[in-house]
Amino acid sequence: MSLTLSIDGERWRQHLLTTVAQHPGIIPVAKGNGYGFTVARLARRAQWLDEHAAETGARLDVLAIGTYDEVEQAASRYDGDLLVLTPWRPFGPALRLDGRTATRVVHTVSRAADLAQLRERDPGARFVLEQLTSMRRHGMSRRELATAAEALEADSGRSGLRGVAMHLPLNTTSHLGEVSRLINDVVASGLPTRTVFVSHLTHAELAQLATSYPDFTVRPRIGTALWLGDRGALTVTATVLDVHDVERGETFGYRGRTAPKGGHIVVVSGGTAHGIGLEAPTGDQSLKARAATLARGGMDAVGFVRSPFSIDGKQRLFAEPPHMQASLLFVPSGARVPRIGEEIDVRVRFTATCFDRVVID
Ligand SMILES: *Cc1c(COP(=O)(O)O)cnc(C)c1O
Repeated sequence: MSLTLSIDGERWRQHLLTTVAQHPGIIPVAKGNGYGFTVARLARRAQWLDEHAAETGARLDVLAIGTYDEVEQAASRYDGDLLVLTPWRPFGPALRLDGRTATRVVHTVSRAADLAQLRERDPGARFVLEQLTSMRRHGMSRRELATAAEALEADSGRSGLRGVAMHLPLNTTSHLGEVSRLINDVVASGLPTRTVFVSHLTHAELAQLATSYPDFTVRPRIGTALWLGDRGALTVTATVLDVHDVERGETFGYRGRTAPKGGHIVVVSGGTAHGIGLEAPTGDQSLKARAATLARGGMDAVGFVRSPFSIDGKQRLFAEPPHMQASLLFVPSGARVPRIGEEIDVRVRFTATCFDRVVID
């Protein structure tokens, strides 16, 4: 009845342990839908990873989460520090933290004004300063970092500064040039820290940085490559809920479409509520839209759009746009028709999918 994520537990756990062992100082990232696993499950797993420090060679003292709204979900399942990736602002949930968990939070500060306000409200606050990168999302320029350094110095060492954070773009050929420039700016700023938090560096890039900046501690924040790094350990399936024969010309679906040829309407679990197929054109059957989709190879000649569901290894077409919790597929005559109750494979974007069940064996 469900859209299910099945995990080969032994294989997944082994991949997690290996990844942590390969990345000293790793800060696992658990945010949003928890990469499909939920933040709660990843927080518990981070605790488990810390308990296996003897195997990985390193304690896991910090877990990164995305927002202040995620603090409670993680805090009750993981004992260490919680680094909030969304920068602190003088409004919203950052100001409503529970007193007991507040002391475990490490804030991200990306503006000089926020640094002053945060420390005024909570003189003991621990934080990282975010540095602006080529992403241009959040962060302080070289000049702003220098200003922050002066403000912290004026406060006679009572600084909760834990390091400088940089968020790097994906898939650039090499980050090393940019990271070197950014680290040089940290040095020039006079900030009293030699710890940088980075994202999206390869293993080789991290090794290179360790050689080039031996006095720096580089801590990689890793989400995808940790939780989703061994896709072979993860299987996503939907359940076949119903099957109906259709003759050419018979109607089906919310919009009363007629079947362009004979075959079967196969109803499977998984719809928009799970994040299924939102990229498919919804109801726009104008000639132009169809031509565009056809040109991308996403639609067959009779106007059906490719779905992420496959049967016997063959990707099947949506008979119409996905419904909230189910989808209608079209299986042409001649192909094997799955039986009701059968599980079929689904290809999903894990960071955008909400599973009904996560099963770890
Ligand atoms: C999500 C996120 C990460 C982790 O990214 P992955 O690609 O999942 O490894 C690291 N840093 C920041 C600031 C993020 O928001």
